[in-house]
Amino acid sequence: MDKLIITAAVTGSITDRSKTPYHPMTAEEIVTAAIDAWRAGAAIIHLHARTQDGTPTQDPARYADLVERITSIGCDAILNLSTGSAGGRASLEERLACLELQPEMASFDCGSINFDTWTFMNPPVFLEQMAYRMQQFGVKAEIECFDIGMIYAGRRLAERDLFQEPLFFQFVMGTPAGIPAHPEHLVHMRATLPPNAIWSVCALGRGQLPMNLMAMLMGGHARTGLEDNIKYAYGELAKSNAQLVERLVRLSREVGREIASPDEARHILRLAPEV
Ligand code: ZN
Repeated sequence: MDKLIITAAVTGSITDRSKTPYHPMTAEEIVTAAIDAWRAGAAIIHLHARTQDGTPTQDPARYADLVERITSIGCDAILNLSTGSAGGRASLEERLACLELQPEMASFDCGSINFDTWTFMNPPVFLEQMAYRMQQFGVKAEIECFDIGMIYAGRRLAERDLFQEPLFFQFVMGTPAGIPAHPEHLVHMRATLPPNAIWSVCALGRGQLPMNLMAMLMGGHARTGLEDNIKYAYGELAKSNAQLVERLVRLSREVGREIASPDEARHILRLAPEV
């Protein structure tokens, strides 16, 4: 089994301070959260940008600022920029703008899906355009799948050589209209992957830890962080992203699976030339 690649999704575009006082909102707070999560063992930092008052935005200048601040501290984590909608605020074209920064990785949401009161739109033409843009800028796609059908949608794009090998799937479980975070569903999702695909799982709320643990034991990888889950345990808020990462590091080592450094993750994902 490869070493465990931990992704920390440190802020997202939905949660804010009304839910938890520990949520990073400003650029300074997001950078601190990213650095602390990296120091705790995260090889990939998944970033969303926010304006200085904490409003989610897809403004590439905000992303450039985050990237600059994080890398200038000497952080060598793989930076994965969101191509999401900033909570429904960004147009399809605005969502692609951050790819011009040529991050090592960016999210690729492989289909449209309903949330509580809005629809996260990812029409087929947009997905094609995003895949071409990622190829153009040499960005690795984190193929986010909210349900089984999206895995097949990703496979169809891959058959047209729109993704670099190895494919990297992120199973997003427990969204309101997506696949629930249940062990049987995770087994099913893994079974629908194409050969040689690499996979990771994130799950919302209380599904996060159990799905992370299953992935740890099944040879997958794990995404944690406040974007997906603000609790450390039932009735107890997580104090930081790093606290969630530290727990995964401890648990993984306890079951005999070491943690991938950023460079080891690059090797596993073939982001770096073979040495
Ligand atoms: Zn995200």
